[in-house]
Amino acid sequence: MSTPSLAANPPAGRLRIAPAAVSLPAEGISDRDHRRIRSAFGPHLVDTYGCNESLALAYGCPSGWLHVHGDWLILEPVGPDLRPTPPGQESFTVLLTSLCRWAQPILRYDLGDSVLLRPDACPCGNPLPAIRVRGRAADLLSFPHRDGGTVHIVPMAIETLLENIPGIDLFQIVQTAPTRIRVRILSAAEVDRERQWTAVRKEMVALLTAHGAGQVSVERAHEPPEQSAGGKYRVVIPWS
Ligand SMILES: [Zn+2]
Repeated sequence: MSTPSLAANPPAGRLRIAPAAVSLPAEGISDRDHRRIRSAFGPHLVDTYGCNESLALAYGCPSGWLHVHGDWLILEPVGPDLRPTPPGQESFTVLLTSLCRWAQPILRYDLGDSVLLRPDACPCGNPLPAIRVRGRAADLLSFPHRDGGTVHIVPMAIETLLENIPGIDLFQIVQTAPTRIRVRILSAAEVDRERQWTAVRKEMVALLTAHGAGQVSVERAHEPPEQSAGGKYRVVIPWS
């Protein structure tokens, strides 16, 4: 297979490969990252979902969903109390049961990912359960709900929101108190930063309000996103 866009414009000019297919394992990535990888490596992307305990949990379909290999394992989306999360809602975590390894069966193992189970039939025609993976539960932002209880917001909900605002190279949400967040942005050089911040703030407030957490204050940080000790940029840093 050829990868014309990469061959024509390799990042930094060092990587010159032509993969037949590129597999995206582990938890999900944002639509923007998906487009970036596709533009670099060509159209042959394969979305998969796996973990160390079971390398193949689900496989991507043309409709953009991951179909669980439900004929040989069970994935249960559950809330913080480990009770089932209804289809159509984002779970707090997901439990894996796999009996295919007789010497080491896995029973309701907590994978730590938030997933959404499609409530209806997938248009691709695959009858196996269809999910979307929203990311690690450890990265969930939690706020008090205006009517009591707690609301959880997954990083991908914020990524999906902010990727539509032009000129954001990198961002990071830091929860500095139970009802306060700071937004760190690394902007592209040519961008009107005041205008960009107005758009970011408006979108963040709308997202929080839609989740019942409209009382949360949204602050503009003047420092850029920061790396963790391991060198990663975390999209969100929850209050702890
Ligand atoms: Zn499908």
